[in-house]
Amino acid sequence: ADLAEREAGLIARRDKVLGSSYRLQYRRPVHFVRGEGMWLYDPDGRAYLDFYNNVPSLGHCNPEVNAAMAEQAGRISANTRYLEPRLVDYAERLVATFPTELDRVVFTCTGSESNDLALRIARLVSGNDGVIVSSYAYHGTSAAAAMVSPNLGEAVKLSPSVRMVALPGPAGVAEAEAPAFFEAQVRAAIKDLDRRGIGVAAILIDSIFSSDGVWIDPPGFIAGAIAAVREAGGLFIADEVQPGFGRTGHHMWGFERHAVVPDLVTLGKPMGNGFPIGGVVGRHAAMDRFGATARYSNTFAGNTVGIATADAVLTILQRDRILDSVVAMGERLSQGLQRIAGASSGILAVRHAGLFFGIDIGHDGMSASQRRAMALDVVNAMRDDGVLISTTGANEDTLKVRPPLVCQAEHVDRFLVSLQAAVASCPA
Ligand code: PMP
Repeated sequence: ADLAEREAGLIARRDKVLGSSYRLQYRRPVHFVRGEGMWLYDPDGRAYLDFYNNVPSLGHCNPEVNAAMAEQAGRISANTRYLEPRLVDYAERLVATFPTELDRVVFTCTGSESNDLALRIARLVSGNDGVIVSSYAYHGTSAAAAMVSPNLGEAVKLSPSVRMVALPGPAGVAEAEAPAFFEAQVRAAIKDLDRRGIGVAAILIDSIFSSDGVWIDPPGFIAGAIAAVREAGGLFIADEVQPGFGRTGHHMWGFERHAVVPDLVTLGKPMGNGFPIGGVVGRHAAMDRFGATARYSNTFAGNTVGIATADAVLTILQRDRILDSVVAMGERLSQGLQRIAGASSGILAVRHAGLFFGIDIGHDGMSASQRRAMALDVVNAMRDDGVLISTTGANEDTLKVRPPLVCQAEHVDRFLVSLQAAVASCPA
């Protein structure tokens, strides 16, 4: 049978056996059998350029990372209850990439577990229950993380202790007014939590607001809001699952752009370049208060294979000066996008930090639903052209572009050609 026929059979079998909460990407789903660097290959050997996946940030199947993983798997995979120098070495090296106040780490296996643990710590330390999040945030899939993820739609309605705050960018607020606008939103949320006797345990935010549509400017706009939360006894949890490990280029951590030091930082996705490992990094005061009364035992978290893999990732990030390349390639991509946006219509705005881009799609005068449909058309046209991206934002009309951090000029240029053609194929 040819590939299309085999894939139709596979889709039918999936639908019968897998839980129906799964979704396939793209109108014509893709099927990959091999990955290498920036590229994924289908069974016919067709290459797709991956500008979507922020997990294998050092490239798919990075040979050096895989060698470290295999070498450790061939020796021992121990857990955190045994003395293991590699665990301590990596913990020291990881913590050293943070501001000095952030001096403790606890390992997890996923971003959701990291946020789940951070919420437990914040609630225990503050004695409060309330959590403030942005209005289209996603923080994970565990019961507690889903309750603070309005992006999931159904979940947040269930929790009386969660408050959503509007972001200045999507609300159309000018940059000069952004800090005051955001602080006022957060102060109102705190007041409401206090009035109901819930109190604020934490503000939990992704520093580049990935699922809200990538909102990064102006730098520092979150500072007043964070100060208000701390005044009320709450903690600042920075969700670095998406912006962390150099994605934003100028910094290892997204919160550094805002020059505010969090109380807790949650990690995941690129930490193991695909191996499931995450963590919570925090100030010792909060971490020790939690540790004095609570237990956190996580069977797989901190296993030696995961640690060896994450250690190789951090070594490469630092040794190969990946952040410099992220800044340079981010600049090249930004200039190319401005060129396309200036020469034709279809791109309404471009926002980026390093190699995390949000590109608003639409022609002037389009309704929100027309912009959403156009963004979906662009994503599918690019898939047919062999380039992978997706959408984000409350209206899903923002293209979400996050290539592995090792992308080079040739990849950026190939992406730009594909995007320009896809946008041009959508009528005004
Ligand atoms: N936080 C953010 C900002 C995320 O984007 C995600 C995953 N998309 C998570 C947390 C949850 O991570 P995981 O899927 O590894 O549990």
